[in-house]
Amino acid sequence: MSERIKTARRLVVKVGSSLLVDKTNGALDKKWVAGLAADIARCRGRGQDVILVSSGAIALGRTVLHLNDRPLKLEEKQAAAAAGQVSLAHAYEEALRPHKLPVAQVLLTVDDTEERRRYLNARGTLNALLDFGALPLINENDTVATSEIRYGDNDRLAARVAIMASADCLILLSDVDGLYDSDPSSSPDAAFIPVVERITPEIEAMAGAAKTPTGSGGMVTKIEAAKMALTGGCHVAITNGKGVQPLNALENGARCTWFVPRKNPQDARKQWIGASLRPAGRLTVDSGATAALAQGRSLLPVGVIAVDGDFERGDAVIIWGQDGRELGRGLCAYSTADARLILGHKSSEIEDILGYRGRDEMIHRDDLALS
Ligand code: GLU
Repeated sequence: MSERIKTARRLVVKVGSSLLVDKTNGALDKKWVAGLAADIARCRGRGQDVILVSSGAIALGRTVLHLNDRPLKLEEKQAAAAAGQVSLAHAYEEALRPHKLPVAQVLLTVDDTEERRRYLNARGTLNALLDFGALPLINENDTVATSEIRYGDNDRLAARVAIMASADCLILLSDVDGLYDSDPSSSPDAAFIPVVERITPEIEAMAGAAKTPTGSGGMVTKIEAAKMALTGGCHVAITNGKGVQPLNALENGARCTWFVPRKNPQDARKQWIGASLRPAGRLTVDSGATAALAQGRSLLPVGVIAVDGDFERGDAVIIWGQDGRELGRGLCAYSTADARLILGHKSSEIEDILGYRGRDEMIHRDDLALS
């Protein structure tokens, strides 16, 4: 399982406040941040994309504004976050500079990930940052978030970000080891759970309601976050990040609970294609194409026998077998008019018929969700 860290294409790493800020004096643990920076640089060096979701703004803001550990009202917490976020970003910037990794701050509210257009915008920005070789550093925009529009904790925010960025691995670093079947602080024979294949009600019950003192999330929110990320096909690891270079430790088999998704990210997109689009037309296919689709292949024009509806290139269509059964749905690479012209033809003839060289496939297998 620890191999996952090395093989993931895109990692989202979430850092809990308790790892960053020394409880006794409220100071930032620069050595720890330097270790994480080295970890991130190593992942980047392997060609992996990394996104960092870090808590710690409020905890650091307490120090900056001399608030000590007295209870804070909502607006005071928000003020602390505003001050602390500067220190937080600065600390990462400084630690990543020797690795020549630029840091880019992104502050998000729930609306930014729930509303489709803002979601797509934020996703575009993250992708652009990764293309530029920068490390997106994300936190909740605590200053404007009211209690109704709060993620409430960065575990959930990190899961949303993982889905938004189509990440295949989410690592929740905090001061808990992972999941036990009972509370290890009260029951000495609590058994550690290294792998969770399904989040059942029993697993949720095991999480209990333990809270970490510095951050706002406990095991319950971590399990909730894991659930969200799993639906996006993302592996999730919960581990104690206290040591220096926590990702390196994880690669070397440090204690950790892994949550395994049943779907990979591509399947999640297919799920979206299959379930959440309104089909604009229908392609009827022959028995050869039906068999090819069942083997996971793309739909070629040669296998299409009829085209119905009114769709543009990229629209969702239903795929019908000759027996009138729906075989699946997919995004068609051609419009109705062009699809009619090339149906039954070999892909090599497309250019002659249409006057341009389109895709060889009528529906590429990546754009296809079988029923
Ligand atoms: N956004 C908060 C902060 O940076 C942390 C929330 C959390 O710990 O989950 O201080």
